[in-house]
Amino acid sequence: MKRVFSFGNGVAEGAGLGKETLGGKGAGLAEMTALGIPVPPGFTIETSVCADVSRGASLDGIRAEVESALVRLEHDADKRFGDAEDPLLVSVRSGAPASMPGMMDTILNLGLTHEAKAGFGHAAGERFARDCRRRLISMYGDVVLKVPKSKFEDAITQAKLRAGVTSDAQLSAQELRALCTRYLQIIKKNTKRPFPEDPRAQLWGAIGAVFQSWDNERARSYRRLNRIPETWGTAVTVQAMVFGNLGDDCATGVAFTRNPATGEKAFYGEFLANAQGEDVVAGIRTPHPISASGRGDSLEEAMPAVYAQLLKVREALEKNFRDMQDIEFTIERGKLYILQTRNGKRTGFAAVRIACDFHDEKRITKKEALTRVDPEQLSQLLAPVFPASEKERAVAEGRLLARGLPAGPGAACGRAAFSAERAVEMAQHGDAVILVRAETSPEDILGMAASQGILTSRGGMTSHAAVVARGMGKCCVVGCGEITIDSRYAHLMAHGKTVTEGEYLSVDGTTGEVVVGKLPTRPSEVIQVAVEEKLKPADSRLYRQFARILEWADEVRRLGVRANADTPRDAHVARAFGAEGIGLCRTEHMFFEEARITAVREMILAETPEGRKKALAKILPMQRGDFVGIFREMGERPVTIRLLDPPLHEFLPREPKALAATAKEMGISIDVLKGKVEGLSEANPMLGHRGCRLGLTHPEIYEIQVRAIFEAAVEVAHGGRTPVPEIMIPLVGAVAEFTRLREMTDRVAHDVFRETGRRVTYRVGTMIEIPRAALLASEIGAVADFFSFGTNDLTQMTFGFSRDDIGSFLPQYLEAGILPYDPFATIDFAGVGQLVAMGTQRGRAAKKNLKVGICGEHGGDPASIQFFHETGLDYVSCSPYRVPIARLAAARAAIAGAGLSRTA
Ligand code: PEP
Ligand code: MG
Repeated sequence: MKRVFSFGNGVAEGAGLGKETLGGKGAGLAEMTALGIPVPPGFTIETSVCADVSRGASLDGIRAEVESALVRLEHDADKRFGDAEDPLLVSVRSGAPASMPGMMDTILNLGLTHEAKAGFGHAAGERFARDCRRRLISMYGDVVLKVPKSKFEDAITQAKLRAGVTSDAQLSAQELRALCTRYLQIIKKNTKRPFPEDPRAQLWGAIGAVFQSWDNERARSYRRLNRIPETWGTAVTVQAMVFGNLGDDCATGVAFTRNPATGEKAFYGEFLANAQGEDVVAGIRTPHPISASGRGDSLEEAMPAVYAQLLKVREALEKNFRDMQDIEFTIERGKLYILQTRNGKRTGFAAVRIACDFHDEKRITKKEALTRVDPEQLSQLLAPVFPASEKERAVAEGRLLARGLPAGPGAACGRAAFSAERAVEMAQHGDAVILVRAETSPEDILGMAASQGILTSRGGMTSHAAVVARGMGKCCVVGCGEITIDSRYAHLMAHGKTVTEGEYLSVDGTTGEVVVGKLPTRPSEVIQVAVEEKLKPADSRLYRQFARILEWADEVRRLGVRANADTPRDAHVARAFGAEGIGLCRTEHMFFEEARITAVREMILAETPEGRKKALAKILPMQRGDFVGIFREMGERPVTIRLLDPPLHEFLPREPKALAATAKEMGISIDVLKGKVEGLSEANPMLGHRGCRLGLTHPEIYEIQVRAIFEAAVEVAHGGRTPVPEIMIPLVGAVAEFTRLREMTDRVAHDVFRETGRRVTYRVGTMIEIPRAALLASEIGAVADFFSFGTNDLTQMTFGFSRDDIGSFLPQYLEAGILPYDPFATIDFAGVGQLVAMGTQRGRAAKKNLKVGICGEHGGDPASIQFFHETGLDYVSCSPYRVPIARLAAARAAIAGAGLSRTA
């Protein structure tokens, strides 16, 4: 079976084979070659070989194929590998089916042997040849021969010191020659062998090492983080080298076929004349724009013919790949080569705009447009922003401190804190905080959580700070190398400016900019239109595009989307984002409000049911008021209200000061209060006296809640609306728990209907959050109107992991690969998922039209939503701000897989 695929001179053996076989890079090169785009010739060894290498197999199986591909490559390039006069040099590059930027290895300039060096020098200049050779030796030494990189770095540092220069580029041919000799010695000393001067040996060493780099530590953690399967493997591409640094008619650059930040249809990119790819990335020289910007420094102006050719390439690529492309190019002696193309990474703003634009340009269907926007990206469109005018003003005033990588979108402004502890303390004093660290580690978590924004001087887009901040939905800028942080003296410096602890910083996580001082933030345009109704849709293109994507999503999704909302305000936001109902209203949150907590405490501290009833009578009108507000907001959409869930001691004070104040308020002694608190305390409160257990032992609490719900519903119904209350009993594990509380609910409902002379339609259902409830789903399903999986507790109880304490060991579990991801964020498909599937199926077997939803945190997680879709649930319920994400994720789930067909 063929495993090596050549490309060059307009012919690509692998065209159409796709990324799974050829990796992203190999597939892109094959496609481009077939399209007639100028690509340096080469060949790709398919990904399946990687698995063999991982298993320790030799490369013998592909030897003959590689040899004949090399012959063809020599023919296409019109040069011979290892030739003494005019040698063909090749690169050996990794390329997985999913992009894993910088995680695996690449080796350049292979074939530049001792013998070939002089010939290459004739063609390219001696200094240039020496420079290429020293790069080859160090890269090969590091990647293939595993000589510590620092040895080569030390040697070049010494060479520069000796020569009295500061940059590599200033080293002369002679100095580079000496450096090569030194490098060869380092290799001999560390490997006890000379550097291989046989071009074939170099090539095979490189191929093996690049395959092996799939298994390096960095790549493994990246895969874990991005959920890339271990089984995929990388492909390896061997390709003729081209050089962008042979003179002024050479250049190298990167370009996006559309603006990756905004999505605007403009050719966007940067280049450096007479430079190599890494010079663009390293940021030593400032690159110039490719399109004319009026300053006269663009590629369009410097090399108009090449620019015109690039424009054609841009069009051909977009037409072929039907998506925005990110390309790398090199111009060697006036000739353009495209080295790579891939779907460009983009912000959420750009994703939405590009999806809409490509659809309007009739290049993609609505369904395809939906697959172009990652649901999580929509949260960027909801995050607060700095008004552009304010930022421009700050820049004009010279307050732009530095620029880093935009790791967590949004805008944050606060006082600088240089340690996690200080961030927590400052936040406790009510300050908005920006946590500034060289890099963060797990000990900084509390400080990160307490901060508005996070800024680090080191680390990339997958650093701890970036990952955690994104997880927390925080604004974050990482890898801001322009700033120097001294955490001991609590200050930072950049470009002559110093910022000390407590001074204000403004961080733009969408662009990576850091500004000294305060910048005002304002809600995103989407919020201004949808929630605040301060801006008209006609005045916000961003909103219109956001709304279009979600409209399209609603056309294809099967899964309903509701919101977890506890207040009329939450309900308003939920509606604004398109929630079709409330899937979970946690009534306990209403009890914590200042005016109520006293009555709640009175109720808990009462010695008799009568005393409790008296206190509850004070709570009733307040609860009724809440429900009236929520029902009004939701109209005829269902509102699932969960009766009280947490153990009572959560409502009592703990701190001595608060204990004293409460005792005084209640007119009891501190000792009596303490006794009560102790009496209610439990060894395992999450497994304790809570949920329906409370409802059964203190029936008056649930009765008053049910009464408040129905009185509110009747009141709203009097106003001409048709509220649909759904009473949800939490923490059921035994059928009798449910049946008894259902009887109570029906009784109270009918009392209210009789008293008021009005009926409303309602349902009584239960949460399935105890594994036993999932096991007994047929019995419970027979008597309940609906199920809502409480996957937070269900995960807690299925794993036996405390949801509040998992942070103490989860990071190690993830690191060690014991768990692939946090099961409280994404549903554990294999275990908890089975209970969800089984509970649904058994419940529906007992009652065909049983409504089944999920209201744990997983309801807003796209990967979990896919699972709930496939499992045939009726709806997911998530926090109001995640409703748009869930709508899109539900649509993408419907597009991706068949799923069971049920009406939402
Ligand atoms: C759950 O357990 O999944 C749930 C939604 O309830 P809570 O988070 O309030 O325990
Ligand atoms: Mg729960």
